[in-house]
Amino acid sequence: MIADTAYLVDFDGTILTRDISFELASTLGGEAFKEINYQYRQKIMPIKTWLQRTAELLPDNLDILLSQAFEWVEIRPGFEHFLEHAREYNRPVVVASDGYGFYIEPILKHFGLLEQIDTIYRNDTFLNRGGSLEVRNPHAHHVCPVCGNCKAKHVVRLKEKGFSVIYIGDGSNDRFGAFWGDHVCARDRLAELCEEKGFPYSQWNDFYDIIKVEKPEMQDRSEISLCCPRGSGIKT
Ligand SMILES: [Mg+2]
Repeated sequence: MIADTAYLVDFDGTILTRDISFELASTLGGEAFKEINYQYRQKIMPIKTWLQRTAELLPDNLDILLSQAFEWVEIRPGFEHFLEHAREYNRPVVVASDGYGFYIEPILKHFGLLEQIDTIYRNDTFLNRGGSLEVRNPHAHHVCPVCGNCKAKHVVRLKEKGFSVIYIGDGSNDRFGAFWGDHVCARDRLAELCEEKGFPYSQWNDFYDIIKVEKPEMQDRSEISLCCPRGSGIKT
């Protein structure tokens, strides 16, 4: 069977029922977190800056952070079946996350799911030589200041390879990648944003809903999208 559709899947709040980066920052970030998060919510601060500023508030110990993260982990229902479905139809599953990132592989491995994911694009949070947490963004756009991980670039790249892309996400920052998708499965804040912008999407609750989505036709999203990953990033 020829692969002609790919899934681009967000991690926090999508594969997991909760957003681990937000939980870590809001639980361990103290009072300073509130001001940083307010600026993010007001769209004064981009997610890339949010990641670095909040990481500086966390304990400088990735083992402690990882064990704390596992306290909140719950895989959204149907995810294993979804991976089987994707494999059956020979559809790549690409995970793209704009969180701290360091916990993704350990969590997927713990549940025996890591080997079934084709590609993971994520940020890297690590202890630098000064002993503090630093967030590296290896998949950021070369000039755009907004996202730590340019999900739009990953979607466009898959489309250039000939795949129609089913985008699955939940958060406001998913809008940049989602609006390049050929079919968007949205919940929570992403669904609200699709409504606001009049962008077509299907509401989803668990991965059994995703399995039902059929191969979409490839769409030209250059007008409706919010950014140009092959150009200068966010549209002004
Ligand atoms: Mg999310």
